[in-house]
Amino acid sequence: MSSSLTPQRPGMHARQISSSSFAEEFNAARSKLGDLTFDDSDTELGSGSDSAGGSPSLSSSDTEGACCSPALSDNTPPSPVSPITTPLTPITDPDVADNFAFAFDIDGVLIRGGRPIPEAIEAMKVLNGENEFGIKVPYIFLTNGGGKFEKERCEDLSQQLEIEVSPGQFICGHTPMREFADRYGTVLVVGGEGETCRAVAEGYGFRDVITPGDILKANAATAPFRKLTESERSASRDLLARGGRLSDIVVEAVFVFADSRDWASDLQIMLDIAQSRGGRLETRSATFTEGPPIYFSHNDVLWSSAHEHARLGMGALRKMVETVFEDTSGGRRLRTHAFGKPQVSTFEFATRLLQQWRAAQHGLAESEPPATVYFVGDTPESDIRGTNAMNDKSRHTEWYSLLVKTGVYQAGTEPKYKPRKLVDTVLDAVNHGIRREMAKLGSCKKTGGRLLPLDDAAMKAIAEGRTPNFVTKAGPFSDP
Ligand SMILES: [Mg+2]
Repeated sequence: MSSSLTPQRPGMHARQISSSSFAEEFNAARSKLGDLTFDDSDTELGSGSDSAGGSPSLSSSDTEGACCSPALSDNTPPSPVSPITTPLTPITDPDVADNFAFAFDIDGVLIRGGRPIPEAIEAMKVLNGENEFGIKVPYIFLTNGGGKFEKERCEDLSQQLEIEVSPGQFICGHTPMREFADRYGTVLVVGGEGETCRAVAEGYGFRDVITPGDILKANAATAPFRKLTESERSASRDLLARGGRLSDIVVEAVFVFADSRDWASDLQIMLDIAQSRGGRLETRSATFTEGPPIYFSHNDVLWSSAHEHARLGMGALRKMVETVFEDTSGGRRLRTHAFGKPQVSTFEFATRLLQQWRAAQHGLAESEPPATVYFVGDTPESDIRGTNAMNDKSRHTEWYSLLVKTGVYQAGTEPKYKPRKLVDTVLDAVNHGIRREMAKLGSCKKTGGRLLPLDDAAMKAIAEGRTPNFVTKAGPFSDP
């Protein structure tokens, strides 16, 4: 913890960080994890305005200043993407599909309101070999959600989907934040139930994690209408026990790990820090230009829960922080950062994980990426937008977007970002991908590689990137 009155990184104010340079630095650090397959010098989804539901920060034209992100400016090696506990095996599973894989969003695709979507369990069975071709297909999960240890979330998912889900095939919204653990001293972690996100952050290696509860415990006047419960008070840490005043504490970065449980006080505290002198608690900058960087684990304004209509998510809080900052700072703009989908960097993160997983679980060569990754999501603004952007950038792998009707997307409406294929459920998505691949392959493993009866029309469809008509045991399949 710094005791200096000057900002920790002179000349590198949060609002001067170029979003593209931030993304490049993030990529550079991440590339140390191993050889990435893609030409990934820029993770922006594009410049210009992003009016509805996109990522207004990393995808916006925030070109002010050309300095590096303070987050990733040294050579400290990042932590592994996610632990892979299964030992590498040189034996390739003879029934595994080596040329394609699936990646799934979770909420609104597999799970809704804490319960599995009925077709999800069947879809997992199909991927695990219960399909007309007798093949197993590798898959990973990529969710913007969070607020728990990855291992814990995998245990929940295993139970819900009746399969074994490993942390080696799972990325949640805050997983990439582990790469920042060595970069900052004192950080404020926001969101989630109780003390869980502090524990997750400390598990990532962050050295000094404080929470809004700690600040409220030290100064109840910070948020006049928020009273800590007895259990919250006892769980919160005593910042004054450090032997000084709150103003001796300098927050070097703010990380919103999971959805806020108390938007009003979290908003107040985040604004206080954004308007502070270099992150120093209980101070106010004269220019409103000295606040530390603020990172959100994703930017979803809406998400699909048990309620009939989509609920507000972290992206809405992000908008509030930025808007209220502007309203209370004489019109100065606040630029915050968001991870998660639709950022291409998150999909690249997933690419690396998928290749590790294919090698560890199925014995496939880690250096050879699948030709196609089918991404199944329910939110056009994050899932489909990100998948399509990844497809545009990827040199070796086709990223094929599939939109389901069981979550945020409302059937009958026009999605802002168009999927390659709109389907009813995740089971339809899985069947579509497998049959499309089998049609491309023109053979059926169960029959010893027998060629499927593809006519000229079918071959033309394949050449044009469509799935041809052909008949399987599961019935006619076409993709007009
Ligand atoms: Mg979703």
